[in-house]
Amino acid sequence: MNVSVVLFTADLRLHDHPPLRAAAGGGRQVVPLFVRDRGVADAGFGCANRLAFLADCLADLDAGLRERGGRLVVRSGDVVDEVAKVVAETDADEVHMAADVSAYAHRREERLRAALEADGRRLHVHDTVTTAVAPGAVTPAGSDHFAVFTPYFRHWDRHPSRDVLGAPRAVRVPDGVGSEPLPAREDVSGTSPGLAAGGEREARKRLTAWLRDGIGAYEDRHDDLPGDATSRLSPHLHFGTLSPVEAVHRAREAGGPGAEAFVRQLAWRDFHRQVLAARPASSAADYRTRHDRWRSERDARDDIEAWREGRTGYPVVDAAMRQLRHEGWMHNRGRLLVASFLTKTLYVDWRVGARHFLDLLVDGDVANNQLNWQWTAGTGTDTRPNRVLNPVLQSRRYDPDGTYIRRWVPELAGLDRAFVHEPWKLRGLDRAAVDYPDPIVDLAEGLERFKRARDRD
Ligand SMILES: Cc1cc2nc3c(=O)[nH]c(=O)nc-3n(C[C@H](O)[C@H](O)[C@H](O)COP(=O)(O)OP(=O)(O)OC[C@H]3O[C@@H](n4cnc5c(N)ncnc54)[C@H](O)[C@@H]3O)c2cc1C
Repeated sequence: MNVSVVLFTADLRLHDHPPLRAAAGGGRQVVPLFVRDRGVADAGFGCANRLAFLADCLADLDAGLRERGGRLVVRSGDVVDEVAKVVAETDADEVHMAADVSAYAHRREERLRAALEADGRRLHVHDTVTTAVAPGAVTPAGSDHFAVFTPYFRHWDRHPSRDVLGAPRAVRVPDGVGSEPLPAREDVSGTSPGLAAGGEREARKRLTAWLRDGIGAYEDRHDDLPGDATSRLSPHLHFGTLSPVEAVHRAREAGGPGAEAFVRQLAWRDFHRQVLAARPASSAADYRTRHDRWRSERDARDDIEAWREGRTGYPVVDAAMRQLRHEGWMHNRGRLLVASFLTKTLYVDWRVGARHFLDLLVDGDVANNQLNWQWTAGTGTDTRPNRVLNPVLQSRRYDPDGTYIRRWVPELAGLDRAFVHEPWKLRGLDRAAVDYPDPIVDLAEGLERFKRARDRD
């Protein structure tokens, strides 16, 4: 037996891939396997945007493997059953895969280990494939994880990093291993019209362009809504077409305040992962309860619908929600302010918003999405859980000319900067000429309701 299986999950690349490197060591044959996991679809995670992006990633991974003499093997079904079948067909003695953090991933790993060991085979699980620093690698005294970002970051930043690995030159796949046809992006219906392209090549091109042209201004411009001056690497980090270890290395090499700010954001990604790894229930339950008694979904139905559709009457909120629908992606400043608006101004349960994001986001990710929602709702790790973002002030600050609003809310394209943030202030015929709703909530009343609910004056 000198065959290894590499089970690809959220690590769809050839560069800097420790499982592949370990599996192919000593000239062994390798089965690069991806299982279209029924469990993921059953859990409601099969959103069209991510399925289309995934199809690009698999096509590109297959192309990269073919250039090296190999190919990707794709199967569908229960991941443990499918791995066991491939192991039996090829008489592989070991399986390599990346560590992951969700409760689902932990269960998958345990089931897989048990099934393989019962059959005399071994499972090797590799750290620092989907994170730059492994969950649990840095911990505070007396706890299994950091609950506050700043001290986490101090430790994370000093933690020694492994070397970045090159892509293998050759991958030898045993003969006769059957594969289903690869899924095609065109076969996925209901995707966002402005959805980005996936795949490792695309990720590497984007990273190189970002390091050359974007990162220098990141510290100053990351909150600039119309400037769109962030890396847009999030879907690539989610699907693992880009290695977080490599992203950190290359950004540090680029150096400067922009790179430092960017690396800090990558640490946020690891921060949420180490929280979820230690507290798997935080994907669905409050990390820190504030004893909220959220408005019922039935009572808040019209408000929730208006929020989802981008017709709340608050232009910057609506612009961001429409960007989400159109691109399957939203600027971080937009995410912060629409989440604050839903959970605090409208006082709707963060899970309602998180679900809608997961239905559309191409980077939709259990750790980042659920824990950022909790952060914004004040039930997570924010040290100022009752802060409320005012959408008008946010809009004036991060979109001063209203360019972002006009891009996504064409009804307001003709308004000048005096009214574009607050169209309800138009009077008479000017107001009548604009086909745009009045605000669904008065900000002061929303704030009062929230303060009462959280028992504060
Ligand atoms: C309510 C809410 C929901 C979110 N849901 C997701 C999600 O499902 N998936 C997701 O990847 N990000 C999520 N984020 C975090 C953040 O908004 C996105 O990662 C970011 O906007 C992606 O754009 P970018 O790649 O251009 O980021 P950049 O600003 O270029 O940052 C680089 C990378 O750092 C990481 N990062 C940046 N900000 C954060 C953050 N606050 N938390 C964790 N990692 C971060 C991302 O991997 C990102 O690609 C959410 C934020 C909020 C407030």
